[in-house]
Amino acid sequence: MKVKQKMRYERPIIRKLETNMPNKYGLRTEYMPMTQIDGVPVKDLINEFGSPLFVLSEGTIRKTFREARKAFSTRYPRVQFAWSYKTNYLNAVCNIFHQEGSWAEVVSGFEYQKALHNGVPGNKIIFNGPDKTVDDLTMSIHNESLIHIDHLDELYTIINLAEKIKPRPRVAIRVNMDTGIYPMWDRFGFNYENGQAWDALNKIMRNPKLDLVGLHCHIGTFMLAPYAYATAAAKLIDLALGVKQKFSHDVKYIDLGGGFASGNTLKGSYLPGPDTNPTFDDFAEAISSTLISSNFESGDLPTLILETGRALVDEAGFLLGTVIANKRSSTGKRTTIIDIGVNLLFTSFWYDHKITPAQPFTHYSEDTTLYGPLCMNIDVVRESASLPLLNKGDHFVIHNVGAYNMSQWMQFITLRPKVVMIDPEGKPHVIRESETLDLINSMERVPDHLKKSSF
Ligand SMILES: *Cc1c(COP(=O)(O)O)cnc(C)c1O
Repeated sequence: MKVKQKMRYERPIIRKLETNMPNKYGLRTEYMPMTQIDGVPVKDLINEFGSPLFVLSEGTIRKTFREARKAFSTRYPRVQFAWSYKTNYLNAVCNIFHQEGSWAEVVSGFEYQKALHNGVPGNKIIFNGPDKTVDDLTMSIHNESLIHIDHLDELYTIINLAEKIKPRPRVAIRVNMDTGIYPMWDRFGFNYENGQAWDALNKIMRNPKLDLVGLHCHIGTFMLAPYAYATAAAKLIDLALGVKQKFSHDVKYIDLGGGFASGNTLKGSYLPGPDTNPTFDDFAEAISSTLISSNFESGDLPTLILETGRALVDEAGFLLGTVIANKRSSTGKRTTIIDIGVNLLFTSFWYDHKITPAQPFTHYSEDTTLYGPLCMNIDVVRESASLPLLNKGDHFVIHNVGAYNMSQWMQFITLRPKVVMIDPEGKPHVIRESETLDLINSMERVPDHLKKSSF
């Protein structure tokens, strides 16, 4: 029998209320310590798995995914998500999305192999990106994957392969366009406004060996304007209706890519991201209204594919760390050195992450610079954050790190740490081991004449 524990008495305290006015460093980051993640104490996680430590919440990933799916599927009859591997391709993370029904969206042969290894059927893999080798293309044609063509050289390679191998390649083109957001991403795919996209579609449709199945775009990342997706959808619809009219051919899906903003705060923003960034509902409303008010007959409405990455996983990721030392700069500003550098927190170049002490702290806060341990001048995790004093050995939690940090991290002067996932029952699992010296050395070869040192 479970014995109910008596709650410990806590004496009441009086805390001065601060009106939440931003000063020139933005808002004060935190008022309460974060002592646990999904019920697991931060201290225990660090004691057991080390510091620094990436922690992912399976519950948060599932909850966020279901919110996104609901926002779209309540507004549009046919919706399919495809998990953007490059956002976080740890297999445990990908498999949560696949269990929830997501396909895979990959941008390299390596990611393609990872998706196959995770059990994704070939016909549920979307293959994007400008660098698909002949081997990659051959494999994806055999597997009936959805090949999103980036440029004419790729189209001609596929035509060439289609002469020799079966089945008929299932292709789409990536379209770039003016959506009112600048600078415009025009390096990937075929341009809409100048006719490149229409030209590529004609080349595909006139070739009986190719099967045009979809139209794709990915207009940018961390987009703050839902209307840009409405513009993108309208332009892809125009192309789809053009194909229908000219060739009596139905394009099966319209893929609007990824790019929805997550709950992070961009550098230089005055207000925190969660207060200002659009929600899944905002994006879904802009996109679905455009699709359902278009001139498709009801039975011919294309499937809407979404390759949402960062907005689905950022909030589920935490980075736990430890204070190494405190110093004063030459001008007297407080600087705190932590065991996390930009090698692990690549996204600190763009975001002011929310950072919370992991133990109770005093009311007083001070403008602080956070330096990493990398012994390089660029290793600044945060130029200025209003933080309470953190002492040597104190722990802290960096929020919203689930996207890109675990794929863009660098092994630089140190070894990458463990990644732990907390399951919905509150049990932590190591989903990626920390690197070891042996692992790094095992990839190196020393020529014989360099083996002997002269000491
Ligand atoms: C990176 C990428 C995505 C995911 O973008 P997010 O900004 O993480 O949502 C989707 N599609 C393509 C083609 C991409 O390159």
